[in-house]
Amino acid sequence: MPVFDHPDFDHHQQVIHGCDAASGLRAIIAIHDTTRGPALGGLRIYPYASEADALTDVLRLSRGMTYKSALADLPLGGGKAVIIADPHRDKTPELLHAMGRLIDSLVGRYITAEDSGSDEADMRVIAEVTEHVSGLGRDGASGDPSPWTALGVFHAMQSAVYHGLGRAESEDQFAGLRIAIQGVGHVGASLARRLHDAGAGLVLADVDRDAAARLAGELDARIVAPEAIVDAEVDVFAPCAMGAALTPEVVRRLKARVVCGAANNQLASPEVADRLRDRGILYTPDYVANAGGVIEIAWQRREAVTAHIARIGTTLDEIFARAAQEGRSPALVADDLARERFETAG
Ligand code: NAD
Repeated sequence: MPVFDHPDFDHHQQVIHGCDAASGLRAIIAIHDTTRGPALGGLRIYPYASEADALTDVLRLSRGMTYKSALADLPLGGGKAVIIADPHRDKTPELLHAMGRLIDSLVGRYITAEDSGSDEADMRVIAEVTEHVSGLGRDGASGDPSPWTALGVFHAMQSAVYHGLGRAESEDQFAGLRIAIQGVGHVGASLARRLHDAGAGLVLADVDRDAAARLAGELDARIVAPEAIVDAEVDVFAPCAMGAALTPEVVRRLKARVVCGAANNQLASPEVADRLRDRGILYTPDYVANAGGVIEIAWQRREAVTAHIARIGTTLDEIFARAAQEGRSPALVADDLARERFETAG
């Protein structure tokens, strides 16, 4: 399988394949860029249909982490790891230990964290064989980054609502604003509670209809079917489920004037950014909005972390202003700004 010629290779510094016959480990670690610091990125455990799919996923996610950490102004590079396995069936301590040894062989160039298919308990098992693990929690507090990611998306939305709807940040900035949230899992539910407390009216959808119904009851929100959430008559659309939520078809249907959510890789293809702009919809670059979790992991100190997460709003103010001035999509401006930061660092 060609790596150098892969369409998502994009100058990765290192891509390693790891195998352990005894535990059944088949893994790939991708290190995109370590100019700003060690490559931090989560460990995804997923039953990929093929090794090619796993390689594509790890390369895209790893590159995304470089951009995310650069724009979050963290002394970190970008990397990611995937294990080709079903997390419900194949995840054993032996598998995680084998993964830990593979991570350890990189002597700190890659630091792992939780991601889809892995959780804090798995990080503890991996930490038995390597020190290059983050997100373990401390002082009895959880290492789950989701509430911090939701806090960051809230700050991002404050900036987006100002630049996209002209509603300046104030105590009642969200009062009466209608917001649709696609996916009310760890991040979506936490974001929904914050927005409800700030006075927004919510429309929720999740393929787990029970989860959506429970949260809607708690927050006095409306529920719609998962396939209908993009048509909701709202001011803001918040993709908080899976990637590629924004397709050309979705862009045609959206009623919202602002898109701002937690999901990674929201644009199904790069040109969707321009389609959003052509329709006058302000798109908040996903990796800028959802950096709260990685900021928390990097800080590991509660006092400083909230101030740093609030800076997501300031970064977006700069991106939105530059995008308006240059007549370009905020997605492209964010990419340029990130590159300026990691290509000139160190
Ligand atoms: P999660 O698995 O807890 O929640 C995702 C929710 O989306 C689930 O409830 C799922 O049922 C629902 N869902 C799936 N497909 C859907 C669809 N088509 N329509 C509606 N709902 C659907 O995941 P999470 O940790 O909340 O993360 C959400 C997104 O944010 C992911 O894209 C993730 O990569 C991204 N993200 C998360 C973090 C974090 O700290 N957890 C950090 C950065 C980015």
